[in-house]
Amino acid sequence: MSTSEIILHPEISQKVASLYAAMEEAYNRTAKAIHLTCIDCPDNCCDSYFLHHTYTEWAYLWEGLNQLGGDRLKTILAKAGEYVLQSETILARGERPMLMCPLNEAGRCTVYAHRMMICRLHGVASTLTRPDGHSMQFPGCFRCQEITRGKPVAAPMDRTDFFRQLVELELELLGKNRGTGSKVKLTLAQMIVKGPPRLPW
Ligand code: SF4
Ligand code: SF4
Repeated sequence: MSTSEIILHPEISQKVASLYAAMEEAYNRTAKAIHLTCIDCPDNCCDSYFLHHTYTEWAYLWEGLNQLGGDRLKTILAKAGEYVLQSETILARGERPMLMCPLNEAGRCTVYAHRMMICRLHGVASTLTRPDGHSMQFPGCFRCQEITRGKPVAAPMDRTDFFRQLVELELELLGKNRGTGSKVKLTLAQMIVKGPPRLPW
């Protein structure tokens, strides 16, 4: 079976960038309202274990990776390979991995402008209304919970529209091919090791 690499059309790429910018803006608004800052935080959220679910974010991540020099990319690929091996071992023990993201370099994100949605939403208290109408609340990171303990957050960030827009972008990207490829359920490290996303067209 022949496969072809998913390259984001510049228009879709621009839409992803705008969506990510909107997430950042909403995050900053809530963070400011509750006085949450990552400065001097003893934790580093880049060791959190997350799975990602869209070809859109996978392809956009690779747009960022392809802008790095060959040597840097080689180092990242090696770190991502190590991450995948270690996480598999930890998962096999029935535990949740807590490993530093292969894109974190001395506390900084190597592909900051292309980092994933969850990297942009994690931290502040937030809400999500699922398509079935069920409402979910997220208390935010440990620091957010410390700050807001006993004081309900007046305006938690609403994730609903961001998720909906990402799904719409995914449908636009896949077009008539939606449903033909396998479902995405990968860590960021797996997305790096596998290379840019491919689908049988
Ligand atoms: S999101 Fe929260 S836990 Fe993570 S670095 Fe920022 S303040 Fe610390
Ligand atoms: S992609 Fe960047 S922000 Fe997200 S976990 Fe990795 S290093 Fe952290």
